[in-house]
This record gives sequence, C-alpha cells and structure tokens, in this order.
Amino acid sequence: MKSQHDFRLPGSSAGPWSIPTDLLIGTSWREAASQQRLDVMNPSTGEHITTVANCGLAEAIAAVDAAEQAFAAWAAVAPRKRSEILRACFDKILENRERLAELISLENGKALADARSEVVYAAEFFRWYAEEAVRVSGDIQTAPGGANRIVVQYEPIGISLLITPWNFPAAMATRKIAPALAAGCTCILKPAEETPLTALALAQLMLEAGVPAGVVNVITTDDPGPVCRAILHDPRVRKLSFTGSTEVGRILLREAANRIISSSMELGGNAPFIVFDDASLPDAVEGAMIAKMRNGGEACTAANRFYVQRGVYNAFTEQLVRRMAAVTLGPGCSPDTGCGALINRAAVEKIQRLVADAIARGARVLLGGVAPEGPGYFYPPTVLVDVPPSAEILKEEIFGPVAVLVPFETASEAIRLANDTPYGLVAYVYTSDLKTGLQVCGKLESGMIALNRGLVSDPAAPFGGVKQSGLGREGSSHGLLEFTEAKYIAVSW
Ligand code: ADP
Repeated sequence: MKSQHDFRLPGSSAGPWSIPTDLLIGTSWREAASQQRLDVMNPSTGEHITTVANCGLAEAIAAVDAAEQAFAAWAAVAPRKRSEILRACFDKILENRERLAELISLENGKALADARSEVVYAAEFFRWYAEEAVRVSGDIQTAPGGANRIVVQYEPIGISLLITPWNFPAAMATRKIAPALAAGCTCILKPAEETPLTALALAQLMLEAGVPAGVVNVITTDDPGPVCRAILHDPRVRKLSFTGSTEVGRILLREAANRIISSSMELGGNAPFIVFDDASLPDAVEGAMIAKMRNGGEACTAANRFYVQRGVYNAFTEQLVRRMAAVTLGPGCSPDTGCGALINRAAVEKIQRLVADAIARGARVLLGGVAPEGPGYFYPPTVLVDVPPSAEILKEEIFGPVAVLVPFETASEAIRLANDTPYGLVAYVYTSDLKTGLQVCGKLESGMIALNRGLVSDPAAPFGGVKQSGLGREGSSHGLLEFTEAKYIAVSW
C-alpha cells in the first residue's frame, strides 16, 4: 500500500482507521503515474480532509487490464461460492457500520442518522445479491412450431464500468457492485470526486471479505470525462452502469453508443408528492418528512413538488411547517443534527437561485429561506407555498431541504401537474381510498410509486425511472439481469 490516511473520525472512541487513498488496480493500491492527487473536503466545515490519487488515462486502461485478467476466473467461480463472498461483504460492512457511517458523514456532510441508514441499505444489496447469485435461472420452451426447443441461459456480460454519485457514496456503489459480482462480472468503480473515501474504504472491506484481486477496481479522478471515455472506448468493456444527473447520463450514452455498450442509467428526478383530501394527515406528513428530508433532500427520489388537495392544504402546510421547523441544521457528524450540510457551495447557490426565482414569481416563504453564513455549506429546512407553475423550482431537481407546496382541486389536475415534467423516477400518493390510489398510480408516468409510503428504496424492488429519469432497473432480480446477456440456443433433439 502506497498512501493511506489514518482517520480519527469525529465522535469515534475507537482508534484511527487506515484507509488507502490510492487507486485499487488488480492486486495493488497504486499512485497515478503523474503523482497528481485530488483534494477531499469536509462540507460541514469547508476544511480539507486528505487527498486521493488522481487517475490518468494509463491507470484507467490498467484497471481494464486488471478487470480482464480476473474476469474468466471470476465468471467460473461457482455461484454458491460467489454468493458466500457477497454474504461476507454484507457481514463486513455491518461489522464496520459505525465507522463507515462516520466516514460518509465526514466527506458527504449528511447527518449521522442518514449515514447510518445508508450503511445498512448499502450492506443489504450484498445480502440480497448473495441470495440472488444462486438463482439465475434460464428457461427452456418448445418452439411454437413444435419441432424445436428454445433454450435460454444468462451469462455474465463482462467488464463493467460503474459510475456513482456523491449523495449515497456507499449505497450507490454496492447497488452496482453486488449484482455485477453476483452475475460473474468484474468491474471498475469510479466514485464521485466529492466522496472517494467511502468507495476506497468499501473496496478495502471487500478485499478483506474475500473478493479476489481484480474483480473490483477503484479509480478516483477529478477529470471523469476523459478517463471514462478511455474505458468506454476499450473493446474489452461491455457494460456501463451510471447513477447521476440526466445531463451527464446523456453524455455517457453518446460515448457508449460508439461501441454499443449496454447501458443502465439512474438519472435525475422531479418527484411529485400528491396528498388527497381523504388521506390520513399524520401519515401524509410523516411520509412527507421522509420523502423530503431523508438525506437532507439530496436524493433523486426526494419529493420535489407537493401537490395538496384544497381541503387539506392549510392543515397539511401547517403541520409540515411545524415538523420542518423542529429539524436541527448542523454539521453531519454532530449527534444532534437532523439535517446536515449540502455537498458544496454550488449546491447552496443553486437552491438560493431557485428560491429567489420562486419568491420573485409570487411564492411565500413560511419557513427558512436564508442560507446561514459559513463555514460549511448549509441551507435550512424551508417551506414555500403558493408557488406558481412558472417557477423554476417546480421544474428543476432541488436537491436540498426545501418543500414546495401547490394546491390542486381534482385528481385529473393532480395527475396532469405531476406528469408535466421530462422526468419520471418516483411519485408519492397519499389517499385512504385504495381505488383512487391505484387509479392515480396507473396514470402517473413514473418508474416507481409510493402509495401511502414515504420511501420506495428496497434492494428487493426494481429501482428505476421512465422518460429522462433512466434506463433499466437496479435491485431485485432485474438488477442482476442488467449484468448478463441472454444466450439463446436453438436445439433440436
Ligand atoms: P451530480 O450533479 O449529482 O454531481 P453528476 O452527474 O455530475 O451528478 O456526477 C455523477 C457521477 O458522474 C460522478 O461520479 C461524476 O464524477 C461523474 N461524471 C461527471 N461528468 C462525467 C463525464 N463527463 N463522464 C463520466 N463521468 C462523469
């Protein structure tokens, strides 16, 4: 191991934790040939934490070499054995639950409670795919003509490039790595430049759990465009799995098009949260708090637009304001914090711009609305009401703790407003009438719908969007099939 950082994590009574800060390529942790490093910052303070290696093009190709060298052997490992290794990864992550949570909170800024939930969620992908690794069944059928058989089996697709965002630095990585490994693929993980340490710590834990060298490679870079392009242009790479913004997803799909690389895309959202007059108000407010405030609003599934039926608009607003006002804004690692820091200054400035635009167009601020002075990148829990349809905040992903409320009269109006977006990741619906609920679910253009729930994420469920929110699904059996190719054998016997 070349470079490592001994973290004395805030609040931790245990000794320091040594995390490698170089690139994981095959059997070794190594520096970039350029010896360039990139800075990792603490969003809660604006302070420097450490540096990690800054991958160049030569290391990117070395990572493909390593993934290729490991591929045939890993694909040939018995599914039962792969399953056991994945299960060991699950155990390892949970054994290190507290310090992983502290690390996530340190480099991402999220509240420790959010980070703890993330670690469990991240580990669960390994448990789920340990269970799925031995259940990849093909099928066999008689061809309609009666004479022949159609045999289909699923094979690992090959070397996979996994690109992940900073908002869930552990869970977005394991949601890709676990199914890739279960399918028999080897991979190169490129975590977000803001949160590389969690990925490096996870990689170290995976090696300790028995993942063979070269099966998971990790490259960190502050210039992802050329590095990822080089990997996607390498003819040995067969899969791209990306989670991030729709803009970058579009760029990557163009890159993947050159060599027709299979692409799974989890992109942006603009989730509507619809509350009908007949909803249980306490449940709807509780769900709203989860859908809005989980991860401080920095989630692609975060409720972005609250559409509330006129009869409960005032009562819902009043209760939501009361609950939002009770959330403590503070540094991620502090035990009292309910809402942590945003990722960086640009995130704060984006929210300031969206809120200012809404106010200029007639919205009223019932809570928050003013970013505190630094240090750190904070925006307070905020509630805006009477937001007009022209406001940018109804069109763009907010990615912060701002609830935007709009009244509606009829179900068809709510559906029209909800669908009036190029996105379609998730929608939330609260009603006590199951018939109304399911009818509305049928008409919403969304890959996922939470009916009387504030949370959809579950490793056993297919996560993904329609329209410009993505392609493909992660989690469930679908997530594993994304890392396979169906091979059809036409047989006569
Ligand atoms: P966000 O807006 O949430 O930061 P991005 O889409 O910018 O989302 O980033 C998500 C991931 O995509 C990160 O790992 C980032 O480094 C990576 N990324 C950004 N631009 C590119 C690019 N041109 N090519 C490949 N990866 C990229």
